[in-house]
Amino acid sequence: MIEMQNSAPPNFIRKIIDDDLDQGRCREGIHTRFPPEPNGYLHIGHAKAICLNFGIAAEYEGKCNLRFDDTNPEKEEMKYVESIREDIRWLGFDWEDRLFYASDYFDRLFQYAVDLINQGKAYVDSLSAEQIRQYRGALTEPGKDSPYRNRSIEANLDLFHKMKAGEFDEGAHVLRAKIDMGAANLNMRDPVIYRIRRAAHYRTGAKWCIYPMYDFTQCLSDAVEHVTHSLCSLEFEDHRPLYDWFIDNLDTPSRPRQYEFARLNLEYTVLSKRKLIELVEDKRVDGWDDPRMPTISGLRRRGFTPESIRDFCERIGLTKSDTYIDMGVLEHVIRDELGAVAPRRMAVLRPLKVVIDNYPDAEEELLDAANHPQDPTMGTRQIPFSKVIYIEKDDFMEDAPKKFFRLSPGREVRLRYAYFITCNEVIKDEKTGEALELRCSYDPATRGGKAPDGRKVKGTIHWVSARHAVPAAVRLYDRLFSVANPERADADWKSYINPDSMEILTRCFVEPGLAKASPGARFQFERLGYFCADEKDWRPDKPVFNRIVTLRDTWEKIRKKQPAKSGEQT
Ligand code: ATP
Ligand code: MG
Repeated sequence: MIEMQNSAPPNFIRKIIDDDLDQGRCREGIHTRFPPEPNGYLHIGHAKAICLNFGIAAEYEGKCNLRFDDTNPEKEEMKYVESIREDIRWLGFDWEDRLFYASDYFDRLFQYAVDLINQGKAYVDSLSAEQIRQYRGALTEPGKDSPYRNRSIEANLDLFHKMKAGEFDEGAHVLRAKIDMGAANLNMRDPVIYRIRRAAHYRTGAKWCIYPMYDFTQCLSDAVEHVTHSLCSLEFEDHRPLYDWFIDNLDTPSRPRQYEFARLNLEYTVLSKRKLIELVEDKRVDGWDDPRMPTISGLRRRGFTPESIRDFCERIGLTKSDTYIDMGVLEHVIRDELGAVAPRRMAVLRPLKVVIDNYPDAEEELLDAANHPQDPTMGTRQIPFSKVIYIEKDDFMEDAPKKFFRLSPGREVRLRYAYFITCNEVIKDEKTGEALELRCSYDPATRGGKAPDGRKVKGTIHWVSARHAVPAAVRLYDRLFSVANPERADADWKSYINPDSMEILTRCFVEPGLAKASPGARFQFERLGYFCADEKDWRPDKPVFNRIVTLRDTWEKIRKKQPAKSGEQT
């Protein structure tokens, strides 16, 4: 399914903020935040939330905080904090001096909880987790009061302090907000706000053995930080009344408003940290930054630029309903960007040896090649030519159909930036019949790719000089999953992993200048696609390139076929 920004208004968040400003609200300025949990690496879905929060703040000359939402000691780690910081910076956003941690508010949150107890609005419950679930009821069935619901304020204070002091085992007690067990919204049926966890926290160590729940922490942290607009994904819509209840019942420094937007879903991949962790731990991929991963670090290593990811987030727009975005959109964006700026180079991925019989053995020459045929300001480079060259295996066909405009016996083609050559003989493997080498002749009068007699050739192919080319490895990537919606297909999402998502070609040859590419540099290999010098595995004696995308733009084709929809942002 192809789905771009559809329903009007194109950006309802901007409209809300404009209204707020018109009504004289938010006099202190617009303040947003991005609140990741440090329990995994960021993915492209997070990029949408980052671009939104930091983008809105920048647009309205406001502020955006980075706050680590770190209330689950078992799953959180400093290495994730570091990777998240690095990824946000790489995307081009800056939290300045506003780096916060929910764990910095543990004392304050504890005081808020005590405050609720003192008002008779929270109680220590001693039911088991299973009992609490049973007592909660269901959508069509009201909940039941816990037998501990009416403990006295004194008893609650005493128990809560003992929970904090470590006097109980995990699961012995929890602190719950006292709201309404008959509420239609299940989130309002006396939600748990503190639980005992005997786990060391990566920042607070062993100081705490009780930890606040996400719902309690998130809205109060926003209020403490004077966040004006708490932007979050749609699944928290039903939690909003609870957040409002906490803010209404506690003396907080400010009153944030929450607005929800649809999460990004991307086809042919999964965007859930839990699933991404599984892929890494099961070694289905080579780590979080595997170029097939939808993580920011994976996309970076694949060769995506921060601009392309920001551009993608802008193009998909903001909606209130769940949509699946075609992977082609992401590929289209980077192809668009690199089409204009990536230097052109020649590389042969599956080499076939070509000997030019009438070219002198010892001779070699340098030929001028444009770095970008449409952009003369990118200049030219010189590439060496000699008697033996490599061409792409599939640029040759022995029994070629008429429309095959590449090399075949008796036919003439242009070597890009070089000469016309004609194939005279095919040397084959006797057993398999596979072409091992071509014997060709060249026309010295066609230097630079033009024939003085005006004769034309239909095909132009790329090549490298065997004597000068540098051996390289090239990794070709395809989609990580073989179905569009692996998460929706059924529970067994891992069975849809595409077995052909990576092809490693180890016997490639690239033009000599590419040996000096800096890791991370991006090029168009003529006729093959856009490639990036791998940051991790690059060796000066054996360059490694990742294919970012092919040259074929499926998205552009589909889009052109569809009549333009009004409101479509492209
Ligand atoms: P995951 O399901 O991948 O674990 P999460 O929501 O639990 O995601 P957080 O670290 O809590 O991960 O996310 C931080 C912020 O990023 C949240 O405000 C969340 O709304 C937003 N976010 C997460 N995933 C997406 C997504 N796919 N699209 C848009 N925003 C997202
Ligand atoms: Mg979360």
